[in-house]
Amino acid sequence: MTGASSISVTNLVDWYDRKRRDLPWREAGVSPWQILVSEFMLQQTPVSRVLSIWPDWVRRWPTPSATAAASAADVVRAWGKLGYPRRAMRLHECATVIARDHGDVVPDDIEVLLTLPGVGSYTARAVACFAYGQRVPVVDTNVRRVVARAVHGRADAGAPSAPRDHADVAALLPKDGAAPLFSVALMELGATVCTARTPRCGLCPLVGCAWRHAGYPPADGPSRRVQQYAGTDRQVRGRLLDVLRAKEFPVTQAELDVAWLTDSQQRDRALESLLADGLVPRTVDGRFALAGEEF
Ligand code: SF4
Repeated sequence: MTGASSISVTNLVDWYDRKRRDLPWREAGVSPWQILVSEFMLQQTPVSRVLSIWPDWVRRWPTPSATAAASAADVVRAWGKLGYPRRAMRLHECATVIARDHGDVVPDDIEVLLTLPGVGSYTARAVACFAYGQRVPVVDTNVRRVVARAVHGRADAGAPSAPRDHADVAALLPKDGAAPLFSVALMELGATVCTARTPRCGLCPLVGCAWRHAGYPPADGPSRRVQQYAGTDRQVRGRLLDVLRAKEFPVTQAELDVAWLTDSQQRDRALESLLADGLVPRTVDGRFALAGEEF
């Protein structure tokens, strides 16, 4: 096993300066709220899809109070095709709490951030680091993979363990104000070069990578299954929400039925789960609407 010194801060940060993607939420002048919005959107969603939504979103709702003043239905509708629409509901709730309880300012304390709806360990640390410049470990899947390979000489990171993963990354952070830059660079490297299936080691600035030096030993245990989307209940939920988003008024069961003709039991199950999540309420006359619509 190689020590933590196998990640050179200078090499990594220089590489980031030259090769980083220009993502709008990383630009100077983006507010903590707008960074928080990007982190909500990026959970389980590719950057390319977030790029198509985030700029208009933050122009329309630049602050927590502006977001809170919108209806939950408008927020879910604008969420569009980002997927996992419960995040839109949580974001709306989060905006409401920040506007009401925190003077419309995103808290900078991780423990306080963790009390906000929809904000988990990763998001709280990402906001503390990227919005407020704090020296805290920010650990996503990409970071875990780079550290597993470059530092520990393993093909993948194995099961997550927050205390171990945070300690691993904390040990790598530079002591000065460069920690946020180092963190975003590590994340970027995992997203664009040290990818899960085809790491492009020829382009990598981490010349001391332990896994590379060990000759790329294979992962222990079975390879992880890639999550499928086609044919899942998640896809059916997306189809049903598409019908509701396209309409200004509640829709009938028959209008929803045509959204998924393959398997009526699966369609019913998906609709029940949307009702249970509060994303889709039933109106008094038995039709269906987006949450937050008033009829
Ligand atoms: S050398 Fe290859 S495996 Fe090692 S960190 Fe760089 S891209 Fe990943």
